[in-house]
Amino acid sequence: MQSFPMHIGGAAHEPLGKDWFETEDPFLGEAWAQVARGNADDVDAAVTAAHTAFTSGPWPEMTATQRGALMRTLGDAVADHAAELAETEVRDNGKLWVEMFGQLSYLPQWFHYYGGLADKLDGSVLPLDKKGFFAYTRREPVGVTAIITPWNSPLLLLAWKLAPALAAGCTVVIKPSEFTSVSTLQLVTVLEEAGLPPGVVNVVTGFGAEVGSALVTHPLVRKISFTGSDVTGRRINELAAPLLKHVSLELGGKSPNIVFEDADLESAVNGVVSGIFAATGQTCLAGSRLLVQETVHDDVVRRVVELAGTAKMGNPREETTQVGPIATRPQLAKVLEYIDIAQHEGAHPVLGGGRADRPECGDGWFVEPTIFTGVDNSMRIAQEEVFGPVLAVIPFEDEDDAVRIANDSRFGLGAGVWTSDIGRAFRMSERIQSGTVWVNTYRAVSFMAPFGGVKDSGLGRENGAEAIEAYLETKTVWVNTGAPSGNPFVMR
Ligand code: NAD
Repeated sequence: MQSFPMHIGGAAHEPLGKDWFETEDPFLGEAWAQVARGNADDVDAAVTAAHTAFTSGPWPEMTATQRGALMRTLGDAVADHAAELAETEVRDNGKLWVEMFGQLSYLPQWFHYYGGLADKLDGSVLPLDKKGFFAYTRREPVGVTAIITPWNSPLLLLAWKLAPALAAGCTVVIKPSEFTSVSTLQLVTVLEEAGLPPGVVNVVTGFGAEVGSALVTHPLVRKISFTGSDVTGRRINELAAPLLKHVSLELGGKSPNIVFEDADLESAVNGVVSGIFAATGQTCLAGSRLLVQETVHDDVVRRVVELAGTAKMGNPREETTQVGPIATRPQLAKVLEYIDIAQHEGAHPVLGGGRADRPECGDGWFVEPTIFTGVDNSMRIAQEEVFGPVLAVIPFEDEDDAVRIANDSRFGLGAGVWTSDIGRAFRMSERIQSGTVWVNTYRAVSFMAPFGGVKDSGLGRENGAEAIEAYLETKTVWVNTGAPSGNPFVMR
């Protein structure tokens, strides 16, 4: 079995505690590699390497223009290795090859886009209200940044953080999910082979409570950028707050996909199925609540069940497969538990409702695409994130009712609105409490479009030009150009 050590200061780093853990293939249901189990000492080595690279050596010597040019080269290198990186992702999280290769082929755009921004981080000259002074601002990197990522789209979600962090001039320690560590280790090797100086990006692997917490609380870490569950996000915020570290959190969701009677129903049904069954529902932006107007409820449910029922399950490496396995054993147990909970709450399963035992699923961790009708928005199946292929259908009466149900959630990540009424589209987009609203589409993301959540879905935004702000500090410089020294005991 292959072994993957950590990556610190430009070199492979064996775990100081000499401990390893296995990483598994969700389709085969068996271990395929072992990964270094880091501890607080490994974290210290990684943060020290990142701090050294931040304060001395080639990285702080580079101009922003040189950094931007390097980032474009890094993006090209990732494009050259997209297939092998996608293969590792499929192996570790069981998502479809077509999905992961698509993500890896798109990912270089983050390096290109933020590379372009690197030398456009202007400060400003301040039009001061005081005579005899000149003052200006500088945009400076915040410092050593900890990036903590989940297992569902490990490299894409990493790029959302890594590209702006590097463009800003930060150095980084990444802690990937313990379920999907290998692709991150491979990515960093690709970046260094393409010219990224050693120590600028380091990877520590292992478990959240051991490695993640040590990273979050390390005194030399200035910024933490996290994607994962709201439970962990809250914990990280608690750890970081007394230490006054910057924190951004991209957390979970229970996003409503809202279908009005005036929608193009064929297109809406496609969007609903894609919103919850693509990626086996294992995306933060899953449209896991279908809010459908009462007048078209039965028609829409019939069509969604019909389309989802044709989904081809099986080997995620085959291009014709549409629904792959659940990525991890604990996640499989969690999805099945929520199916039980929904049944106990009185929801009616109209499709699926358990583990898939189709021959093409082999020993993989598969769950049938599952749809519950008769759901009330107060039920746990409507309020809690399942993170799997489970759709809760909730009828609504009119626009006000749809808004009330959509916003009756502690989450606020995304929402879909399906309507042919342009006024309604604008009204709904304004009234829904979420970081993104998709009108007559679902699940579209871009390096240019800010993404993030309100309420329990997180703090801060990724993507788009504003995302780089999260990795910058503003410094104000005052220069005395001839102001007379006044009373030293009175503020100027
Ligand atoms: P998770 O919270 O269990 O783990 C995420 C990461 O945090 C892992 O690397 C884990 O090791 C680490 N971690 C765990 N405990 C920690 C601690 N005490 N200190 C520091 N790090 C710790 O999440 P997951 O199960 O890997 O991912 C699924 C979750 O991620 C879902 O809730 C999903 O909605 C969310 N997610 C959000 C987005 C988004 O952009 N909003 C995107 C993808 C996934």
